[in-house]
Amino acid sequence: MKVVQCWDDGVITDGRLIDILRRHGAKATFNLNPGLMDPEKRGGCAWRKQGEGTWNHNFGFGVGKFSLRDIPEIYSGFELASHCWRHENAGSIPDAEWIKSAMDARKFLEDIVQKPCRGFAWPCGVSTQGTIDLLRENGFAYGRTTQNTYDVRDCDEPLALASNCHFKDPGFWDRYSKAKATGVFYFWGHTYEMYQYDDMWDSFESMIKYISDDPDAEWADVINIVPMLRGA
Ligand SMILES: [Zn+2]
Repeated sequence: MKVVQCWDDGVITDGRLIDILRRHGAKATFNLNPGLMDPEKRGGCAWRKQGEGTWNHNFGFGVGKFSLRDIPEIYSGFELASHCWRHENAGSIPDAEWIKSAMDARKFLEDIVQKPCRGFAWPCGVSTQGTIDLLRENGFAYGRTTQNTYDVRDCDEPLALASNCHFKDPGFWDRYSKAKATGVFYFWGHTYEMYQYDDMWDSFESMIKYISDDPDAEWADVINIVPMLRGA
């Protein structure tokens, strides 16, 4: 079974995740919004009190961002994909502006990694038929939604691709074992969801180690499963 994962928003806690992935030889794709990253300065620390940043998550904390200058080193060896320039939801702005945002992020990342970045993750999981068509016309290979499925291959529209589950799904291991019959297991998340809590990070590392040690599993990049989709 090919196991693929992707992580959204390019937040500073991605660094801690990447250390874990490197320790266990795991692959991953990171869906970035370059327009929300400072050219030079990092968020400073992982956690900012509410009000100090432009964006916040639970418990009144907001997570910092890497700088654009950090991208090549931090994400070296991992796949990068567009998550729009400034995380614009499909339908929230005119479609012509929206596809420019999706493409600007892609071109920016392609300039850094010097190879095609044809992946996409829908900001907030929101898609419309018009923006799906625009992604296809502009050569994107897939667009990950926030929908769950038991069989990732059972997908007529790769630009509205469901994963098996979010990494904190209580049914994660049930879905993982059921996915063995399909040949693909795909999970996703945001690294800020593990906050600054060491026990969550430890349990995440155990998950990654389990998968790396599983003789039935083989890490792959999301882009590699596209040819296995029914609608590809
Ligand atoms: Zn996002």
